[in-house]
Amino acid sequence: MDDQQLWDLGFTRLEALNSCFPQETKSALAELLARYCQTKEALAAVIAEIDASSICRQCGGQCCLNGKYRINVFDTLGFITREILPSVNFTQKPLCPYGSHDGCSMEPCLRPADCILFICDALDEKTSPDSRAILAAGEQGLRNCTLQASRLTGEPLGTPLLLWAEKQRFINQKK
Ligand code: SF4
Repeated sequence: MDDQQLWDLGFTRLEALNSCFPQETKSALAELLARYCQTKEALAAVIAEIDASSICRQCGGQCCLNGKYRINVFDTLGFITREILPSVNFTQKPLCPYGSHDGCSMEPCLRPADCILFICDALDEKTSPDSRAILAAGEQGLRNCTLQASRLTGEPLGTPLLLWAEKQRFINQKK
């Protein structure tokens, strides 16, 4: 099974799983997802203020190469609950399948948490103590949301979607 097939399997399985959750779980999950997405958006804004656009433009997005495992199951649920189908292209290696030469195709609120939280050395040098404290608190907030949502659903939502899909395939084969 190639990456595209794994992506399709993971996305479809997650859609099916999400549709089967009891209403109470769906509501609690929606609250956690809303907080998760708002936190990602807020953290992206902090990074943008540090002048990420010029640093990232000069660098050309080296941190975005080979990013296929960046999106986790909880990130993907953000797309599913908003009924958005992300555009993916697994043939453009080493470019990330979720981006293009123009940058990431995902809005900051839906971008993988791992990408939002990654601070390269050039950005780190320009980060003030205040921004650092905001980023650390936001990181903890994202981790808490993922942990709570994982407990709620009984699924390891922090797992990269492609690895989760691989496990789903294995479970399928055993049936
Ligand atoms: S998902 Fe977006 S930000 Fe993350 S590595 Fe891929 S292109 Fe870069």
